[in-house]
Amino acid sequence: VSATLIDGTAVAATVKEEVAAAAAELGGVKLATILVGDDPASHLYIDLKHRDCHAVGIESDDRRLRADTTQEELLEVVRELNEDDTVDGLLVQLPLPAHLDEAAAIAALDPAKDVDGLHPVNQGLLLLGRPRLVGATPAGVMRLLDEYRVQVAGKRAVVIGRSRIVGKPMALLLLQANATVSICHSQTVDMARLTTDADILVAAVGVAHLVSPDMVKAGAAVIDVGMNRTEDGLFGDVDPGAAEVAGFMTPVPGGVGPMTRAMLLVNAVAAGRARRAPLASRGH
Ligand code: NAP
Repeated sequence: VSATLIDGTAVAATVKEEVAAAAAELGGVKLATILVGDDPASHLYIDLKHRDCHAVGIESDDRRLRADTTQEELLEVVRELNEDDTVDGLLVQLPLPAHLDEAAAIAALDPAKDVDGLHPVNQGLLLLGRPRLVGATPAGVMRLLDEYRVQVAGKRAVVIGRSRIVGKPMALLLLQANATVSICHSQTVDMARLTTDADILVAAVGVAHLVSPDMVKAGAAVIDVGMNRTEDGLFGDVDPGAAEVAGFMTPVPGGVGPMTRAMLLVNAVAAGRARRAPLASRGH
């Protein structure tokens, strides 16, 4: 049996149409981004974010700071954009140059504008089962499962990876959707014992083809978050041969990647909507 390939590009196109309509209905939404330094990959990601905003009618403010920006200068820009009432969503592109304190920069963001869902308040709300702004990648995976009618409640889910940006929020979202969730990481012993039991398997590791076909349960939904760039091209964390075993599988590229881009726009609109809501309905 060959897996149904989950078409992230197609779902992302639908999501972007929804975002365009919602942004217009709100009468305009603005996303601001802060990029420090010269990392070419980061510049590319930021270019794409602004291009995506433009395509759906979200205004954007693109702040690029020198590589030798001090912590205080960075925090000053964060404060300025926090206080700017025309800005709905705000993100600091990671990684920051090594001399800057990433945790302090994230903690300085207004949680109501934190479209990457990285502020401790937003991560805490997710832990409490009251998600507000959740990272675009795990949110995108949930949307893909939903679009393809993959049942989550009562299913066994295994997430490989425990980063604050993908693995942990992913596991919490699956838990909130009533899956029974296990989290694997670099210290996990005999990972295949867990993965071969998983109805839903999410790989967010950063090791090309770590998940071999024999680690996948027949009929499982396999979500490959990995993006491993090598001289030979872009590879996921899952061996494409797993599609012979799985019931559903995301390709790389064309799976989770486009959804991540689209869900950032969803978060910008969600932040804009919440900021316009009456004060009484906000709150933590
Ligand atoms: P990360 O911060 O490096 O975290 C990787 C996680 O994988 C860690 O929890 C690590 O365990 C675990 N791990 C490493 N080697 C392992 C192994 N051999 N067996 C089991 N677990 C192992 O990476 P990330 O930011 O979460 O990203 C993960 C991957 O997703 C990367 O390829 C990244 O490029 C990709 N990504 C894609 C998108 C997208 O839009 N498609 C978005 C974000 C990230 P420890 O905690 O024990 O170190």
